Amino acid sequence: MKWEIGGIETWPWSRHPLGLAGLAPGNSVLVRTGNWRSQRPVWEKERCNSCLLCFIFCPDAAVVVKEGKMAGIDYEHCKGCGICATECGRKALRLVDEHLVQE
Ligand code: SF4
Ligand code: SF4
Repeated sequence: MKWEIGGIETWPWSRHPLGLAGLAPGNSVLVRTGNWRSQRPVWEKERCNSCLLCFIFCPDAAVVVKEGKMAGIDYEHCKGCGICATECGRKALRLVDEHLVQE
């Protein structure tokens, strides 16, 4: 299944399906949910077919999409919930303990 999200960067709010209600919208730059992550999803680009299921399911909008394709994870905001890794049918995302990650 392939999602048609071409030009999503320019979509008005009315094109997005109803999600959650933010009480203080627009503060995600300040709230870095990645600070309390104990595990992170590691992306294996070679396995990925850019189906973007991970983008759809990520509750933190931490899956980065560029030109309609999966482009990586925003670790400033990824909280390590693992939903993306669970939903990825190609096993292109796997959770790794933070203390085992070498940057
Ligand atoms: S990482 Fe998995 S779920 Fe995400 S776009 Fe790639 S194949 Fe799809
Ligand atoms: S682990 Fe959770 S917050 Fe991080 S990218 Fe995946 S779905 Fe989003």
